[in-house]
Amino acid sequence: MEQKLVGTIAIITGASSGIGAATARRLAAHGATVAVVARRADRLDTLVSDIEAAGGSALGVQADITDRAQAERAVSTVIDRFGRIDILINNAGLMLLGPVLDQDVEEWERMIAVNQRGLLFMTKAALPHLLIAANDELRGVADIVNISSIAGRQAWANFAAYNMTKFGVNGFTEALRQEVTKKHVRVGVLEPGAVETELISHNNDTIKDHLAVSDAKNIPEKLQPEDIAESITYMVTRHRRSSIAELWAMPTSQA
Ligand code: NDP
Repeated sequence: MEQKLVGTIAIITGASSGIGAATARRLAAHGATVAVVARRADRLDTLVSDIEAAGGSALGVQADITDRAQAERAVSTVIDRFGRIDILINNAGLMLLGPVLDQDVEEWERMIAVNQRGLLFMTKAALPHLLIAANDELRGVADIVNISSIAGRQAWANFAAYNMTKFGVNGFTEALRQEVTKKHVRVGVLEPGAVETELISHNNDTIKDHLAVSDAKNIPEKLQPEDIAESITYMVTRHRRSSIAELWAMPTSQA
């Protein structure tokens, strides 16, 4: 495999499972040193060991990114250790579904905290470092990839608050892209359709049963986390003149 990311430092949030873990493995295989961020330290330890056993370089950083101080500390830990940040993958997320009338407001708050506030905190803390890396001789570019969703483009009943968080991520991404693209920080949004991960598991059985029979969500063959990791890798390995501002990645079997 051609290693296009040798010498780069990448931070991946939500790397203890699913898309984030697959992305960490993939970017590490391309030569990036990956700082993997999440709350479950045991999962991060296993991931770091796997990446190192495969010849890569990784650092586990335990943090709850909904806490601004912890998000800032995650970034400063990476800077203290490696001195630079080239790539930020804002992937951590939570999807709790239900009708607006019945859903617990506390679930909305938890989603907003991870999907939006955590993403803002990580971006704000990492951006000054990305701006420096973007203008040095290694690649002459830096990257932020925000993991939104098809739910950032399309709304459905029972997805209202999740839709709101992901539509918000899309708007934030494009506004930030316009602010920093001429300074060589590429900012892009990736919107996956259904991916086989733990995401749905945090919902109650009523919602899971509803999704299982809903036509819109009846998807015989979901994407695998590796498919999205590949798309992310595509975004961050383009020539510096080329910025993928938006990428919508769907399972073939999802209409
Ligand atoms: P997972 O549930 O497997 O992964 C979610 C990750 O987010 C975990 O690593 C979790 O780690 C982390 N996380 C959650 N809360 C926090 C927190 N407070 N601080 C730090 N990390 C946190 O799901 P996916 O891999 O599917 O989700 C990744 C992203 O992809 C999400 O943004 C999701 O919305 C998006 N997405 C997923 C789709 C799918 O069908 N799976 C489709 C479209 C978009 P821990 O619990 O250890 O903190």
